[in-house]
Amino acid sequence: MARLIIMGPPGSGKGTQAEHIARHFGIPAISTGELFRTHVGDKTELGAEASGYMDRGDFVPDHVTTAMLRARLEEADAADGFLLDGYPRTVIQIGALDEMLADRQQTLEVVLELTAPDDELLARILRRAQEQGRADDTEPAIQRRLELYRDETQPVLTAYSHRGILLSIDGSGQPETITKAAIAALEGSLAG
Ligand code: AMP
Repeated sequence: MARLIIMGPPGSGKGTQAEHIARHFGIPAISTGELFRTHVGDKTELGAEASGYMDRGDFVPDHVTTAMLRARLEEADAADGFLLDGYPRTVIQIGALDEMLADRQQTLEVVLELTAPDDELLARILRRAQEQGRADDTEPAIQRRLELYRDETQPVLTAYSHRGILLSIDGSGQPETITKAAIAALEGSLAG
């Protein structure tokens, strides 16, 4: 069973790719953004706490996000493997994830990064804004999310690259082609 992370800037299509990749490997795709959106939709206390940050494109505070993820990872379906989407997004969260895994005597196998040029990212976000009406797909929130990705999340990629577990693939083009390339790259990496 695989323990994987998918990373990519807003609009890179990582949510869609995460679903396909997770299905292929028979593991749950766990998206912290989706978990938050479910809480917001269900009007839970956690949802009320998170929604202001999300609507502005800001990060929800680390301790809130980490507690939510810890609880999700304790569910039975994640016992042997998972694909994390949207966590870790900060260097602090790398350490929190390391601790969660160490408690379970587990390690991460691969971090998959989807790359795409900025103009394609923006075009995809704007298209999604029309199709799905996500509350954080407004112009200022999009700018903020791109900025945080560059300032806070790029260092996470650098850290995983130093560990030798970062696998970057081109995330531009047709979704089906990217899924195939991602699965082939992951299989190669997991086998090696
Ligand atoms: P996403 O669906 O991954 O784009 O996440 C949507 C929003 O949820 C983000 O813009 C943040 O406000 C919040 N969020 C998701 N994951 C995290 C995280 N790891 N740390 C902090 N905030 C997060």
